Amino acid sequence: MHREGIDSENVQPEDILCDYCGEATWSQNKPCIEGHQGSIVCGPCLTTAYRELVLLKNEQETTEKCRMCLEHREDPVWLGYINPNAPICKRCVKQAAGTLTKSKLWDWSKPTDP
Ligand SMILES: [Zn+2]
Ligand SMILES: [Zn+2]
Repeated sequence: MHREGIDSENVQPEDILCDYCGEATWSQNKPCIEGHQGSIVCGPCLTTAYRELVLLKNEQETTEKCRMCLEHREDPVWLGYINPNAPICKRCVKQAAGTLTKSKLWDWSKPTDP
């Protein structure tokens, strides 16, 4: 997501924030994956989401749409660290984890132990 109140004609790297922890991703050079409408999940959040949903089966539910795919699906979600909650569905977690693991830009891979 974009930091609130910024000039959308002149977005700076530090204005690009992870939707799930609210921290800057670009300016800190963190791995990240972009979803629809500028939503962003950073590597550390994706690690947590993957662990919770895929490894621990610690599934949460919501009536909100997933921030990444903008769909409300039957899939369980992870709700992130900040309010209002930003859900990411299991399908997006798996997809993003696959993409980020393959990406040569970042040294990130799917967590294997809970
Ligand atoms: Zn994050
Ligand atoms: Zn999704």
